[in-house]
Amino acid sequence: MASGLFRKVLIANRGEIALRVICACRDLGIPTVAVYSEADRNSLPVRFADQAICIGPARSARSYLDIPSIISAAEITNVDAIHPGYGFLSENAGFAEVCRDSGIKFIGPKPEVISSMGIKERARAIMKDYGVPILPGSPGVLSGPEEAEELAEKIGYPIILKASAGGGGRGMRIVNERSELANMLSQAQQEAGASFTSADVYLEKYIGAPRHIEFQLLADEHGNVEILGERECSIQRRHQKLLEESPSPALRPEVRERVSAKLKEAIKAIGYSNAGTVEFLMDEKGDLYFIEVNARIQVEHPVTEAVTGVDLVKAQILIAAGQTLPEILGGPIVPRGHAIECRINAEHPVTFAPSPGRITGLSLPGGIGIRVDTHAYQDGIIPPYYDSLVAKLIAHGRDRTEAIQRMKRALDLFVIEGIHTSIPLHKRILNEQDFVDGNFDTNFIKRWM
Ligand code: ADP
Repeated sequence: MASGLFRKVLIANRGEIALRVICACRDLGIPTVAVYSEADRNSLPVRFADQAICIGPARSARSYLDIPSIISAAEITNVDAIHPGYGFLSENAGFAEVCRDSGIKFIGPKPEVISSMGIKERARAIMKDYGVPILPGSPGVLSGPEEAEELAEKIGYPIILKASAGGGGRGMRIVNERSELANMLSQAQQEAGASFTSADVYLEKYIGAPRHIEFQLLADEHGNVEILGERECSIQRRHQKLLEESPSPALRPEVRERVSAKLKEAIKAIGYSNAGTVEFLMDEKGDLYFIEVNARIQVEHPVTEAVTGVDLVKAQILIAAGQTLPEILGGPIVPRGHAIECRINAEHPVTFAPSPGRITGLSLPGGIGIRVDTHAYQDGIIPPYYDSLVAKLIAHGRDRTEAIQRMKRALDLFVIEGIHTSIPLHKRILNEQDFVDGNFDTNFIKRWM
């Protein structure tokens, strides 16, 4: 290993996150290998990685999700580490295990930890054991309608049925009264079985107007854990995040401190390592309740980078190479200012219909306080096969007001022609008085649409 780090890193992903990992590797002087599907042949990660290997056709199942193809590419190029990015194989414990068995370092938590965090009702039970607050709900997987009815009666309606192996905001059912429960349970089980690795479903109390607040953590392989503050991700459409910020305009400092302390203990006890996010819902009283762990880097990580000054992707690589958090962070983390991220998706700003195609005109904003993470380029194509994220626009300011002003200026100077994007929607959000006042929950967008 040159300089005690890795010889070469393969990136098992595409789009902006593949480029993001290439940037971190370049900063560390580590050569990179991009893998790509036929649809991404002309993409920027392919152009900027030191080597690139085609791993299959456009369909992800036969390219970005094809473990044997990715491992072959890693062996041919003689890499000693793989960064999975987010989505695709990033939380696939089987993939992490194959990497380990092939003598390749998976840049993420250990397979056993990924697997226990991926079973959502198990993660819930573990967090509860360490004193992290959870919503009232089933102790484990629901055995059938009788158990569900009994529990729901005790907790009080509405409740939400959730797939144990669920993700991406899918496979959930809100149940308002007893008469709907048995039917909804069988629907949820069927949907879970068809979409995920298991048909198991669990139940928890439904919060009508929650805020989504999540904590970023880093943990090394020597038992050190740091919580790098929170992100507020309540601006969502269809349970998917659209705009994120740090810090949350609503979290009380004493709740932040109490929950961070409990989390730190839990994460250490679980043996979690690398980067991760722990997601919570906040109720009207301002209390937090655990919902799930994302055992990977997240799309919205740049807002945390902006306020903490920590390069999270670089930290992931250094942790995987065996360094300690004190070495990596070099001192206490002092958050500074406020950051906001707008996800610029290739989609219609009103109907949310995907809008893939050729980018015929592009001009990226810049200037003080602005960062753009994107794989878009003039005449580049946004293929229809993958998620619709085209760019992440991040504004950092001394305080929330300055971050909002800078974001508005950057959105005005952001030109993307040839496809529809969410830019007009973001402009509208930033001009809403309730957003400016920090007065919103996860139903914010649904209320106007
Ligand atoms: P996924 O893994 O599919 O993303 P999550 O458990 O993270 O599922 O939930 C996604 C979103 O669904 C949350 O951000 C929130 O908007 C909504 N949600 C989940 N659980 C509840 C709940 N108990 N009450 C209200 N809304 C919920």
